Amino acid sequence: MKDLSVQLTAPNGRTWTQPTGLFINNEWVKSSNGYMITTINPTTEEEITSVYGATEDDINKAVAAARRALNDPAWRDLSGLDRGKMLNRLAQLIEENREILATIETIDNGKPYTVALDGDLVETAETIRYYSGFADKVFGQVIDTTSDKFAYTVREPVGVCGQIIPWNYPLAMAAWKLGPALACGNTVVLKPAEQTPLSALVLANLIVEAGFPPGVVNIVNGHGSITGSALASHMDVDKIAFTGSTDTAKRIMKMASVNLKNITLETGGKSPLIVFNDADLKEAVEWAHLGIMSNQGQVCCATSRILVQSQIYDQFLEAFKGQVKQVSKVGDPFEESTFQGPQVTKAQYDRVKSYVHIGQAERAKLIFGGKPINDIGNGKGFFIQPIIFADVTPQMRIFKEEVFGPFVVISRFDTEEDAIKMANDSTYGLGSAVFTTNLTRAHRIAKLIEAGTVWINSSNDGDWRVPFGGVKQSGIGRELGEAGLDAYSSIKAVHVNIKSKL
Ligand code: ADP
Repeated sequence: MKDLSVQLTAPNGRTWTQPTGLFINNEWVKSSNGYMITTINPTTEEEITSVYGATEDDINKAVAAARRALNDPAWRDLSGLDRGKMLNRLAQLIEENREILATIETIDNGKPYTVALDGDLVETAETIRYYSGFADKVFGQVIDTTSDKFAYTVREPVGVCGQIIPWNYPLAMAAWKLGPALACGNTVVLKPAEQTPLSALVLANLIVEAGFPPGVVNIVNGHGSITGSALASHMDVDKIAFTGSTDTAKRIMKMASVNLKNITLETGGKSPLIVFNDADLKEAVEWAHLGIMSNQGQVCCATSRILVQSQIYDQFLEAFKGQVKQVSKVGDPFEESTFQGPQVTKAQYDRVKSYVHIGQAERAKLIFGGKPINDIGNGKGFFIQPIIFADVTPQMRIFKEEVFGPFVVISRFDTEEDAIKMANDSTYGLGSAVFTTNLTRAHRIAKLIEAGTVWINSSNDGDWRVPFGGVKQSGIGRELGEAGLDAYSSIKAVHVNIKSKL
């Protein structure tokens, strides 16, 4: 394999060979016109390296490779059992390389190393392993119709799948999409986010090592407006799976219409977390903190709107502020004690700051944080204090709009009815959480809330065995769990006439 790569060393002393090319047909190639993107370490604001980006020409090549692989007996005729074995080998290789991969996530994204290692990388390997088990269990039905006839269904791959990945969980989001796509026998052109292009390229080498034939997985970096749109509008791509912002999803949906692509979209959120008077306050506070402040608040289903019943409102505010002060230690992501690293980019950092101004202008009560932190990296790095606004009302922009940072709004409600009304007062519907010790109320709320996920007495508890996705403007389709297979297989019906004569 012709290798385009550089040697990199991270602040934790780890050294690795970083591919920099486009991964097409199991080979590393340069872009057709030398197009490159540069990735920045958000902790130091220094350039890490540049990698090749894919032009429209390169996307044509990647899609052609994926199309050839789809029809190549080496992949097409492989049994589900053998596809599963390859996926299982890939899961194993991810585990074996998890320290290097976690290091890359931290240097490129800014997330704490311990989180990358024990969170992202476990999820990445286990998601691939989970779907390896499904590869030989994707089958149809026999449908009895009349005495002369019957029908059966088979589940076939959708075809060539374009997968567009966000920057908040670069490898885990790739695993969510690669696992079910490959289990079902599809081929893939995957585009990582331009902010975090590195880890997927290292994963590419593991894909080769796991034995996947050329063209089954192609990984190409590039900007959304160039590489992403070339993929989304390509006439020979059968499906687009996207995770990212709602605005981009709307653009992708339009582009995907050129050939009526199958789509899965997982987009934004402004997820509510409701705390009733009877809740276990300490638990509610701890989960509410994790639900918005983990991963630097850069989580699509973060519970970023906390609704608290009047009687315990003041008490909750005090306890929540105390929790943030005590636990949300902002610092160098390679330090073990760090809870919150830098925001991923200057653009995200500026966005979070701009919402502090918006909240203040709207006269919400800033009860904690919001200041840039300059003393961590000698004035460098996109570090910001976590932000808590209280007394926020549903009319305010900070109640409605997704910030995607360590930024939470807290509002007060009186009755259960008010809580549901406020919770559902959103264009989004991704996550939601309810804290109560009243069993029947918990399930009543779970039923009435408009969201793809409800957490009862927890928040942001993710699991690859459980379907994930949104309603309203939070997305279309489901990923993960058995439901994730539906997004990557298409049902063919075969009618059989067994009557002996016409
Ligand atoms: P964010 O605004 O949080 O950076 P985006 O939704 O813009 O999130 O990005 C998520 C992914 O979508 C990235 O891989 C990005 O490159 C890609 N993307 C952005 N714009 C487009 C576009 N116009 N067409 C296709 N992909 C895009």
